Amino acid sequence: MKHHSTPSFTDKDTANPSQKTIWIKEPLACFTANDLDARGGIVIKGSEIAEVLPVGQQPSLVIDEVMDARDLVLLPGLINTHHHFYQTLTRAWAPVVNVPLFPWLQTLYPVWAKLTPEALSLATQVAMAELLLSGCTTAADHHYLFPTGMENAIDIQVEVVRELGMRAMLTRGSMSLGEKDGGLPPQHTVQSGDTILADSQRLIQQYHQREEGAQIQIALAPCSPFSVTREIMEDSAKLAEKEDVRLHTHLAETLDEEAFCLKMFGMRTVDYLESVGWLSSRTWLAHGIHFNDEEIKRLGAAGTGICHCPVSNMRLASGMCPTLELTSAGSPIGLGVDGSASNDASNMMYEARQALYLQRLKYGAERITPETVLGWATKGSAALLGRKDIGEIAVGKQADIALYKLDELRFSGSHDPISALLLCGAEKAEHVMVAGKWRVTEGQIVGLDIAGLIEKHKASARKLVSE
Ligand SMILES: [Zn+2]
Repeated sequence: MKHHSTPSFTDKDTANPSQKTIWIKEPLACFTANDLDARGGIVIKGSEIAEVLPVGQQPSLVIDEVMDARDLVLLPGLINTHHHFYQTLTRAWAPVVNVPLFPWLQTLYPVWAKLTPEALSLATQVAMAELLLSGCTTAADHHYLFPTGMENAIDIQVEVVRELGMRAMLTRGSMSLGEKDGGLPPQHTVQSGDTILADSQRLIQQYHQREEGAQIQIALAPCSPFSVTREIMEDSAKLAEKEDVRLHTHLAETLDEEAFCLKMFGMRTVDYLESVGWLSSRTWLAHGIHFNDEEIKRLGAAGTGICHCPVSNMRLASGMCPTLELTSAGSPIGLGVDGSASNDASNMMYEARQALYLQRLKYGAERITPETVLGWATKGSAALLGRKDIGEIAVGKQADIALYKLDELRFSGSHDPISALLLCGAEKAEHVMVAGKWRVTEGQIVGLDIAGLIEKHKASARKLVSE
């Protein structure tokens, strides 16, 4: 059933109820993430892409509105597959600017444990707004902090997602292995397995949308081998299978983690992953750096997805993800900015640019192209989230698009528009559409008071580190 301007429909809803047709006409350049030629532009009808026009071709549908795109580069909306939104409150914090993962975490855990509902709401708004402005239309978040008073953390995030009109994969993270049992996090930041599983079940029932065009999805995400018990890994895998939702965790990020697994479980990371029932295409892993050849083969054969987080990996000096070996083996590759305490920017274009440069150090200039990294940021990321309705420009896909204007000083003198996005650094999208609705126009988020948000978020961040 279609909704036609019913009173309950507000501007905040993502669906376009009017079925209005918009022709994004003849863009300066277009990356479709497939073999389609979209130089004639695309026609959007309602919340979907209805026509993809090769060069010189006119739409066959009756067009209600034409958008002249001759100055704009068209991309599928970018998809971020790993983040910790709450960490925008601890960006560039002096005590952890120059340390690797384990001491970085141990210094930050007690600060993060003081998170409040208001602070999380502000942090989520900031992270998602930043992503949206960079051209991101779908974002995954990995939230694993549920101290007393924060039991409704994911519910708080759902509200923000709805307010901004983006899509999100909100993962119900967890920590269950505290210091006293040999884990890394302080005891007061961990929860019992029963609490975690009951809340996971509740969130799936309450929020997980299964239909095409879903705005909100839930996945299960025990945090990392050094912060959860083997039991919660096994039980999460069983619950995910029963409920048909996805699984997410950090894996093979650092050599410290590898050493931890050998000592604690007597096995390497991928053996551990397999032993708890996670080596499957239901799973996507953040980082995926320290794998040997045999492990890459097994991950690929299982179809396990890997989210490459180049900036975080460089900042914490964790290592380099073997993206091309993983691709050859069969693992989809997506991109993630990772949490803001280890990046500290939530900008998907910056991330794609850094992926291009970092991966060139590993594989050479010929094998890693602008199209390679844009493919990771779109179609590859969609595969990690198990979605076929987003990540590409094609008929029937969701109308999630980002348009970039190359009119700033940094682009002057550039020739190939798609390469210029990466090489000159397109930090901001001009217009962004999610499900057929404009969420960014002329570089501004529709309906969001950014200055007001920054004031409140800054105050909240100061409070968190000063208490
Ligand atoms: Zn992370």
